[in-house]
Amino acid sequence: MGTPTAHPPVRTHAETTLPATGGERVIALTFDDGPHPEHTPALLEVLRRHGVQATFFVVGENIAVYPELLHEIVADGHALGNHTYSHHQLTRMRPGAIRSELGRTSELIDQVVGFSPHWCRAPYGDWHGTSLEICSELGMEPMGWSLDTADWRRPGTAGIVRTVTDQAAPGAIVLQHDGGGPRHQTVEAVDRYLPVLRARGWTCVRP
Ligand SMILES: [Zn+2]
Repeated sequence: MGTPTAHPPVRTHAETTLPATGGERVIALTFDDGPHPEHTPALLEVLRRHGVQATFFVVGENIAVYPELLHEIVADGHALGNHTYSHHQLTRMRPGAIRSELGRTSELIDQVVGFSPHWCRAPYGDWHGTSLEICSELGMEPMGWSLDTADWRRPGTAGIVRTVTDQAAPGAIVLQHDGGGPRHQTVEAVDRYLPVLRARGWTCVRP
């Protein structure tokens, strides 16, 4: 895990956009709460077909059940992020429990794919001073989002497409989900909005 002084500086908040993009049409797609045995492979197929890479914020409990999906995500060149072990609100936990939620997940990812994640996202984006400090101690940086598709509410495929295509802004980080519930609308929406974004000159990047 490196020397004790090697960890990133403690942040006062999570990054919600990509570092200065100078108005360039780049956005980052992120998918939380997987891996999921049905939706993650479906999403990977869509992303592969469009030649796009994203970041997957995975939950430890799901990795333990579907480790092979982690390999598939990495094999396709996507980034992995830590989304805690059991997806509980960090701000309601004692420091020891927060350390365990984040630490166990990074260790598990490392055991499965051979490296630990750089980015971490708190469940519900709910960070506080203690959790940000522990995130940094564990060698990670916190990532939030600027474009919330609210796809977990299942607003309809067209609704998700509209949100992304209407709100795409230089450096935006897009929040979506490939686990935690039925995500067919999300997968279909990605398939539909990627060609629209491309036609409008947008490039999807990994942070
Ligand atoms: Zn989540």
